[in-house]
Amino acid sequence: MSNNQHLFSKGNLPAYPIEVTHPEITRFKHSNTGINYVHILDSGKDGPTVLINALMHGNEYSGAVVLSQLIDSRIQPSCGKWILSFANVGAFATFDETNPDVSRFLDVDMNRVWSNSKLESGNHVKELVRAREILPLLKEVDYLLDLHSMHEECEPLMVSGPTNKAYQFAKLMGFPKVIMRDVGHADGKRLIDYDFFGDEKKLPIGLLIEAGHHWSKLTIENSQHTLFRFLMSTKTIDIQNVPENFQQKVPQVEVKVTHRCVAKSDDVQFVQNWLGMEIIPKAGTVIAYDAGVAIQTPYDDCVLIMPSLRHVLPGVTYVRLGQQRPI
Ligand SMILES: [Zn+2]
Repeated sequence: MSNNQHLFSKGNLPAYPIEVTHPEITRFKHSNTGINYVHILDSGKDGPTVLINALMHGNEYSGAVVLSQLIDSRIQPSCGKWILSFANVGAFATFDETNPDVSRFLDVDMNRVWSNSKLESGNHVKELVRAREILPLLKEVDYLLDLHSMHEECEPLMVSGPTNKAYQFAKLMGFPKVIMRDVGHADGKRLIDYDFFGDEKKLPIGLLIEAGHHWSKLTIENSQHTLFRFLMSTKTIDIQNVPENFQQKVPQVEVKVTHRCVAKSDDVQFVQNWLGMEIIPKAGTVIAYDAGVAIQTPYDDCVLIMPSLRHVLPGVTYVRLGQQRPI
């Protein structure tokens, strides 16, 4: 490491402005499902059951803004049912603009609890209690869209997980540009990996959108576009209810995650302020230092996916590496 090289660490990252204030959602507490903050819109006609979920992470409220807009718009499904869910409302209720990252969860990350072993355990941490409330409705879902956002300002990524069925559906949607294929997390299952969603032989499809930076206006627009393309692809929305700019598809690329860089220390530094989707041409390029040890790209044209040092600790993934190809 050269002495005069400027390095980025969690202590000297620029803070992002909060462009979108957190939404008021208490009017959605009482619902027709008997589960607080989970609503069903039923067309009364045969068709698929579609679940749109927001607030899996309490500080990622762009999805809640978009879901609120959908409910307030009074648009109804043209067939089948929509289940509209605000998941970790307990964590969201603690959101504090002066310390915006801490409301991600209360006890444990709610997007790591979606395995039968955890859901059926005797553990009563708050996120598991909430997950068990929502669980009975999952069994009837055909299509799931889970609305998330990212620590850094980055173009939107559709996470299709490990299954080909979800990847094919993300291609059918045609938005956003990047479809990220990965195998999930070692420390627990995401909702999109839960049981039948993660089973290639079963029909239900689960997708997770990382729509942009948590509190940026652009993230709202990306979330809206994704939501409408998703509903169009499930064939449960009348086209006249979809704004014309959100009907558009874009050319897509596939990014396959091949490696995860997991911090060995809390002293991880980047050689640039990586934001995500940078393509590093040469194998062996140093991208970071972990406790002074150089971390190099393993192959040419390596894509950096969701790099972030904001929450780095030993055991935390601070960047994923992948290979990109046009679709
Ligand atoms: Zn998230």
